[in-house]
Amino acid sequence: MTGVLIVGGSIAGVRTAEGLRRLSYEGGITILEAGPDLPYDRPALSKQLLAAGESAESVMLRSQADLDKAGIELRRGCRAVGLDVEARTVRLADGALIDYSDLVIATGSAPRKLPAAHGVHYLRTLRDALDLRDAIEGPVRVVVVGAGFIGSEVAAAATARSASVTVVEPYAFPLGRVLGDLVGKRLARLHESKGVQLILGRSVREVGADGAGGRRVVLDDGTTLDCDVVVVGIGATPRTGWLAGSGLDVADGVGCDEFCHASAPHVFAAGDVARWPNALFAEVMRIEHWTNAVEQAGVVAWNIVHPDKPRAYAPVPYVWSDQYGSRLQIVGRPRADDEVRIVLDDPADGSLVALYVRDRRLAGAFALNAPSQTLQLRRALAARAPLDEIMATIGVEY
Ligand SMILES: Cc1cc2nc3c(=O)[nH]c(=O)nc-3n(C[C@H](O)[C@H](O)[C@H](O)COP(=O)(O)OP(=O)(O)OC[C@H]3O[C@@H](n4cnc5c(N)ncnc54)[C@H](O)[C@@H]3O)c2cc1C
Repeated sequence: MTGVLIVGGSIAGVRTAEGLRRLSYEGGITILEAGPDLPYDRPALSKQLLAAGESAESVMLRSQADLDKAGIELRRGCRAVGLDVEARTVRLADGALIDYSDLVIATGSAPRKLPAAHGVHYLRTLRDALDLRDAIEGPVRVVVVGAGFIGSEVAAAATARSASVTVVEPYAFPLGRVLGDLVGKRLARLHESKGVQLILGRSVREVGADGAGGRRVVLDDGTTLDCDVVVVGIGATPRTGWLAGSGLDVADGVGCDEFCHASAPHVFAAGDVARWPNALFAEVMRIEHWTNAVEQAGVVAWNIVHPDKPRAYAPVPYVWSDQYGSRLQIVGRPRADDEVRIVLDDPADGSLVALYVRDRRLAGAFALNAPSQTLQLRRALAARAPLDEIMATIGVEY
């Protein structure tokens, strides 16, 4: 086979393949996917599947017929274990070698493991989500470790399914490390208003059996929490283990240039696994969000088809999260140490918009139930508009 080889059959991999076809690429496209399933949508695992109780079919991204129609070969249960950038081959677990004219690394990320934790759930795959859904059915006691996006969405889903939920978070507030205390406090109220118990400023020392068929969570101050289910959501790490020895730069993801081109000819990376310099923010980034995987895949496809006129990838980062019927959105690069200005706070509909200002420029924004303002702010960030102009656009005086 000589054509484009994509390792990783999730959103970044599938969108790269489809992008190539849209750009009239006529060569072979093969996707290697370690997992057993057709491509599915990970954001839907914690939302449609876990919170809303929808079927596994509802989270599928593409059917086999869709892939066949697009001329995309998906090889499931097929794990890449090595890469030779000189020979331009990828090695599979059974020793077989597959050659490529261009390679796209789209192996995503894996949940960070909590040390000394036994019998806990993580949420990354369809199987994880189905197992967790079974486990949180009914009035069970759930401890969630980590109040980031995944932990918070799991807390919301478990609450909706009648579980009693405790969240343990080492920072002072949920998402406080990124968004700071002002917004973090508001998110804490959102959890607490739904009956979730937050234990903030504490971390988990270990998780084991409670001696009665359940789990016992021991915190760093010695407090113990007995429960039925423990879910850990403490971040993710890029899946680059299979690239060891390839010579690629894989310190915190696959290092790329502004064209998403890795440190060897004809090798690209997209999605959670890719790290690249974003000229719009003058910052090297690796982003673990769905929209980034989609947008970066589009640029990689373009740059494979048009090596003579490559496009730099310089997006405004965006992420959404659905919790307790509210939509959270973040655009740009907010930081806890930015100046935070709340420019909208309407108790009537629960909407909130916070701007994150750095050096008198907008660096990012957080919005709760304010999708149209989020869109405007994303556009304004892309244009690097001055702050007073941005405030005027969203109808707020500077
Ligand atoms: C529960 C959950 C909820 C989320 N919700 C949101 C949300 O609301 N908003 C948002 O913006 N983002 C959300 N995300 C993040 C988003 O899903 C990811 O950013 C996105 O899936 C990244 O896509 P990817 O294709 O880069 O990587 P992944 O989706 O991680 O896929 C990588 C694929 O590569 C395969 N693979 C790995 N190693 C190998 C190998 N050696 N050989 C072959 N195949 C391999 C894996 O099996 C996997 O299928 C959520 C994630 C999870 C888990």
